[in-house]
Amino acid sequence: MKVLAKSLLLQKIALKHLKNGDEIGLVPTMGALHRGHVSLIDKSVKNNDVTIVSIFVNPTQFSPGEDFLQYPRSLEKDLFVCKKSHVDYVFVPNVNEMFSANHKTFVEVKELQDILCGKFRTGHFRGVATMVAKLFNISFADKAYFGMKDFQQLKILEKMAKDLNFRTKIIACPTVREKDGLALSSRNAYLSFEERDLSACINKILKQAASEFKNKDLNSILKAAEVKLQKIPNLKIEYIQAVNSKDLSSINKNSEFCCLVLAVRLGKTRLIDNVLMRK
Ligand code: AMP
Repeated sequence: MKVLAKSLLLQKIALKHLKNGDEIGLVPTMGALHRGHVSLIDKSVKNNDVTIVSIFVNPTQFSPGEDFLQYPRSLEKDLFVCKKSHVDYVFVPNVNEMFSANHKTFVEVKELQDILCGKFRTGHFRGVATMVAKLFNISFADKAYFGMKDFQQLKILEKMAKDLNFRTKIIACPTVREKDGLALSSRNAYLSFEERDLSACINKILKQAASEFKNKDLNSILKAAEVKLQKIPNLKIEYIQAVNSKDLSSINKNSEFCCLVLAVRLGKTRLIDNVLMRK
């Protein structure tokens, strides 16, 4: 396994693999790797000749006042995890390598970036899309692996890849959870013991709501879920909403493929989750 910090070098190496006819898989991450990340890495290693994992806490996707400085960083452990998972290249650029002081170019996916989490995290998806576009250009990846836990991110990147004619195919990977249903996230480390206990309710409430989708009116399902969430101490709902699972568009009573998405704050920790549902 090679660890690289320079984009030009990785680009040269990736181009060589491309010319050799190797299939290249890319797994973009912000590090603090957990089983969710490993599930993406395993898929890439299994289905490609070469796997590149990027580890970069991207400052452009943090809004002012967010947790950029506190975000968990554990490079040594992450490299060990990558090595154990048979990753070929780990890309660990520094901030200046990706976003020099003179960086002027950004990617925006209009409308999709402004709804749901976008309403609460100004500029977040612009930062994500720009970073991922750069990684696609550096890695020449055939496939890039993203988790369904970040459902809006996944849909935005699918749209970006299509609109900008990237050769990279986006592969959606299922959410890996704790036994009690909490979606694994690097930010779960912020939860206190009590909050961690309470956090298990979030997925349970979502699943219950989704199970009623076939037979009940959507508004009453959402209201009931909201009431249950509000009973959790120290929990603040940012949003709970049902959207079209293809493209995040609004749904009507005839919509078949939907996704119930939510974001909450439990104490200081922001948690997101979603479940797919079908009429
Ligand atoms: P992050 O390091 O949080 O930016 O996540 C990097 C990638 O891992 C993104 O595509 C996430 O959607 C994905 N990911 C994070 N948590 C999970 C999880 N619990 N299950 C599956 N994928 C995940």
